[in-house]
Amino acid sequence: MRVSDLLRLPAGPVDLHRFDPAATPGFKGGKQRARKAVPELGDRLATLQEQLYAEGRLGGRRSVLLVLQGLDTSGKGGTVRHVVGLVNPAGVHVASFGVPTPEEREHDFLWRIRRELPRPGRIGVFDRSHYEDVVTVRVLDLIDERTWRHRYDAINLFEERLVADGTRVVKCFLHISPDTQRKRLLARLDDPTKHWKFSPHDLDTRERWDEYFTAYADALERCSPDEAPWHVVPSDHKWYRNWAITNILIEQLETMGLHWPEPDFDVEEQRARLLGMP
Ligand code: AMP
Ligand code: MG
Repeated sequence: MRVSDLLRLPAGPVDLHRFDPAATPGFKGGKQRARKAVPELGDRLATLQEQLYAEGRLGGRRSVLLVLQGLDTSGKGGTVRHVVGLVNPAGVHVASFGVPTPEEREHDFLWRIRRELPRPGRIGVFDRSHYEDVVTVRVLDLIDERTWRHRYDAINLFEERLVADGTRVVKCFLHISPDTQRKRLLARLDDPTKHWKFSPHDLDTRERWDEYFTAYADALERCSPDEAPWHVVPSDHKWYRNWAITNILIEQLETMGLHWPEPDFDVEEQRARLLGMP
């Protein structure tokens, strides 16, 4: 069974407590085997990405958008480094979304998102996304309920159009346990080279764990259509997270029917011409 199918959010009411963050669906073996498997998968991913890039260079319109969401330390940055880092950076566009700037606040919540969408042939990666605008804003009570509820429809419409325009939307929720977060936050405090990754605000967020889980559950449940479904990726084990997301990306690219573009010149003619040159 494909990892995409194993981790795909089932239809119906969502309770994130029912997903085990330490599970390793579809993978037999442990850390060492997974770490060994990823570079090989990386070759496959890099080939598919190059085919997508080539298609874009020759006028194709298609692209991929990987949306990463998850609480602090869930591994969004690590996924960019270890998974997205397997492919040619020239074909990738990574965007991260923090607290909206004054300029961003003057616009609709999707304004800053649209500006970072991948161009044809590219793989776009969102480290946080428009889902912050139905999760964080809700938990922190930054806007009224009517407004954030209305945004579910806006997001569904936005993603539906994106898909119709040729973007494969791949959404991954990186699911960790409170224990794992405690360990990872402690590691950030213990290591001076990781202090920059820590923010006291992370502890405010941690205090509202259940509220975040409720808000995430609603957002995932309301915005997981067949064309752009959510995947819940157990992320207590970094090696599983990397292995799983690499597979999901490969599987999604494989369903796009990519191939090396046909040359628009006569190969033999060009070869003869080249060989005839001094
Ligand atoms: P980091 O990803 O660690 O750089 O943190 C970014 C911070 O920005 C997180 O605390 C997010 O919750 C916050 N953030 C991102 N988008 C929004 C948003 N639309 N409204 C409010 N806070 C946001
Ligand atoms: Mg952070």
